[in-house]
Amino acid sequence: MEEYGGWQCQQCGLGAHSTVMLRSGPGGDKSLCNTCGLYWAVHGSVPEERKDLFRFSAEDETMNITPATTTTTIATPLTEASTPTASVAAISSPASTQSIV
Ligand SMILES: [Zn+2]
Repeated sequence: MEEYGGWQCQQCGLGAHSTVMLRSGPGGDKSLCNTCGLYWAVHGSVPEERKDLFRFSAEDETMNITPATTTTTIATPLTEASTPTASVAAISSPASTQSIV
């Protein structure tokens, strides 16, 4: 029996099949999902960060999976020409620290 077939959490939009149990909320009994209901029970308010968190795909079988068609791979040529790395190791350390007593 799909008693809660079209049920959605009033806060986050989670479907009934996605939560372990339905909990009470500001909208009445069994108006929130488990997570939102627990938050409500503890804080006395609904978690704003979960607002419509699952609203897009809950109880929606037709998920519009848009394939990424235009994958433009811009070939960036590595122009590391004319980089003078030589004549750097020619810096001689001053070896005049010979204290001849
Ligand atoms: Zn919820």
